[in-house]
Parts: sequence; structure tokens; C-alpha cells
Amino acid sequence: MTGYIHVEKAREHNLKSITLDIPRERLVVVTGPSGSGKSTLVFDTIFAEGQRRYIESLSSYARRFLGRLDKPDVEKITGLPPAISIEQKGRSKNPRSTVGTTTEIHDYLRLLYANVGTPHCIKCGRPMEQLTAESAARLLLDENGGDRVFVFAPVIRGEVGRHEDVFQNLLENGFVRVRVDGTILDIEGVSLDGRKKHDIDVVVDRLELHQRNRERLINSLETALESGNGQAIVAREDSPDLVFAEQLMCPRCGIQYERLGPKAFSYNTPKGACPECNGLGVKFDIDPKKVVPDESLTLREGALKPWSHSPESWPMRFLEVLSEKAGFSLDTPWRELSREAKDVILWGHPRYTVSFEYKSKECRGGNETIRVTRKWEGMIPRLRRHLRDTKAEWYRQHIASEFASKTVCPACGGKKLRPENLAVTGGSLSIDQVTAMTIREALD
Ligand SMILES: [Zn+2]
Ligand SMILES: [Zn+2]
Repeated sequence: MTGYIHVEKAREHNLKSITLDIPRERLVVVTGPSGSGKSTLVFDTIFAEGQRRYIESLSSYARRFLGRLDKPDVEKITGLPPAISIEQKGRSKNPRSTVGTTTEIHDYLRLLYANVGTPHCIKCGRPMEQLTAESAARLLLDENGGDRVFVFAPVIRGEVGRHEDVFQNLLENGFVRVRVDGTILDIEGVSLDGRKKHDIDVVVDRLELHQRNRERLINSLETALESGNGQAIVAREDSPDLVFAEQLMCPRCGIQYERLGPKAFSYNTPKGACPECNGLGVKFDIDPKKVVPDESLTLREGALKPWSHSPESWPMRFLEVLSEKAGFSLDTPWRELSREAKDVILWGHPRYTVSFEYKSKECRGGNETIRVTRKWEGMIPRLRRHLRDTKAEWYRQHIASEFASKTVCPACGGKKLRPENLAVTGGSLSIDQVTAMTIREALD
């Protein structure tokens, strides 16, 4: 491998048979007046040749779908690595984009992970398995031994009607009992209110969860999965239904989720994006350091910046009452307050409902006494609420610029994807670990 891309006699479009060497692994800028052939050289010659060679390297079968790329008009190019191109125009302003997503390389990675990746449980880290009647039975026997249970197959969910054809069909298939809106009934003689919505499950079996019933349980679960369109319900007396679906399940914890498609590996789709930060990897949130910027101040001196401008009015009165209840002093520098006191002030406490009176200076010449009773939600939740709910744009911007910062999203750790998706590995790496690599690391 030479240190140069050597281009010999490029004649594409208006290029006048030019020959040049371009250093590799450098940032190289091509400049010149409009129409001098910069794009022709860079895109139509060098990049085009790189693409052409890449496609030539694919099997003839794959090439059939890609169409032919003509060889650019150039004598020869040597030292040319695989090439990607990003045009400056039409670049989307999406803050989630990276070079990997813009060039669609990330799309191939997503396909790869969706098809050959190994999903792991987000709770215990074990590999997930495709749920089968057998694995569901194993889990049930391990966890709920001894219980008497029903095995149901869901048939109708929230649909209006008498559903007579459904019952007829079930009878013909040898079933005799159903659960309609939570009540077990004989199918023979069921009559539903045709104007209401109903949930119908067919009773597949009723049995004790015991090793000696293992085969029977597996059979019943299989029947249920078949009749219930890939879902089986196991219900004990007086406890919520356990739903098993033919999807991925952790054999240990029973956590289930759908097999992940390629979309799940994109943080630009709702299926893939971390729900906490919407796929941005960062959260714009109230920053405790901005709420108490100077820890040497006492509360009375205005340690709480959002309230530092109102020493006379209700916030100070409020803090006085709160300090008596929670046992801290308004005259202690913030940094010397106890952990508990700081937590109560910043994060609130359900136990502290504070009632107090104060004379309003704003109302009627300061004569009116106002009585306030409120649960203390905490300064940070309070500012968050204002940031989220306020209708006044100027106020939102004030809070945002004064008290909020961008922080790494706590849910995904800045990785932008849902935890389930991050738990899929190819080899030993998750998709975010691959995309976080430099090109050189990824090569290895
Ligand atoms: Zn697990
Ligand atoms: Zn996140």
C-alpha cells in the first residue's frame, strides 16, 4: 500500500488528462473556481472508481441487482482504498446522525445485528431463547410448582358482538369451556350481549403444576399457542395471568420481547430509540450544580439560585418552615449541610407538607396575608415541572439557560438505543460498541 492515491490521465467531463498524487490518511481539500472540475475529479472519477471496484468484488449474483457502473475516463488509479462520499448539500440537520448513518453503513450493521445477533436478557444478561411450549413449561414448573392452573388460548380481545360463530367453531374443535370477560363458562348455552365488547379465552386445560404433569403441560401449551395465534395464557386462582407469546424469552427471568427487526437497531425510529432520551443519547435536564452554583453560601444568603432574588417573599418563609421540620439551619453554608438536608431541599420528600402564612408585598400594598399549604416536591422536580409544563416561552428559556445542562442519558448511558437492543451481540460486541469504534479498531 502506497501513501498516495495516484491518478493518471483523468479525462472525465472537462478534465484535461490530469495526473496527480493525493496523500492518503490526510485531510485533503480540493479548491478551484466553479466549473474547474473539482467535483468531476473527486466524485465522478476517484469516488466512482472506488464504488466500481467495490461492486466488481461482489458475486455476479449480487451484481445483477446493482446495475453496471461505467468505468470513469481515466488511464489508471492506484492506491485507492474503499471510498464513501458525503455531499455537503442536503445534509439533514438531524442531531442523531453520524458519518455511519449518513453513508448507510449503519444500515448494513443493523441488518447484520437483526439477523445474526444474539439477544440477551436485559435483567440477568443470559442469552434469550425463542419461546417454545417446552421452555415455558420449564419456567412454570420451576417457579410455580404445586399451583393448580388454567391454560387458556386467547381468542377474542375487546371485540363487540355475540361471537356465536367463534363458539361454534370452538365446539367443533372439541373445546367445552371458555373464559368470557373473566368468568369460566360452558360453551354450550353461552349467550353474550351483542352490544358490548368481550374478551374470550378458550380453556385448553386445567392441571396442577407438577413434574409428573410435565408432558401434559407441554402438550396443552402447544395447543394453546396454536389456537391462540402464538399466545398462551396460564392463570392461577386470584393472580394475574401469565402470558406466553411465541417470541423471545429469558429462560431464567421469563422476560419476553419480540424478536428485533433491523428497525430496532436504529435510534432514528421509535422501535429503536431509547425512550428516555428519544435516541439523542443526551438529556436536557436540570443540573444540580447550576441550582446551587456557590456552595459557600447559606440558604438565607441565596444558595438556592432560583430563589436567591426573593429573600423577603414566600420562598424564604417556606424554607424557614421546611428547615424546622427537616432539622437544618438556613444559616449553614450549603456545603456543610447534611446529605439528608440537601436531598430534602433538592429532591423533596413526601413526608414534608409545609403550611405557612406570609404577607404578600405584591398584593394590595402588602396587607394581605396569604396562607399556603403544599407538599414539597423538591427544587429539581419543581424546575423540571416548570421546564416541561410552562406555557410561557420566555420562562422556559430562562429555566433552560439558567438551570439546565445537557447530560448523558442515564437510561442508555448515551448509547441512544433501547436497552433490549443494546443487549444483542454479534461476536461479543453490541451494535453501539461497534459504532463507537474508530474505523481502524473496527477493521481489527
Ligand atoms: Zn434474565
Ligand atoms: Zn437514552
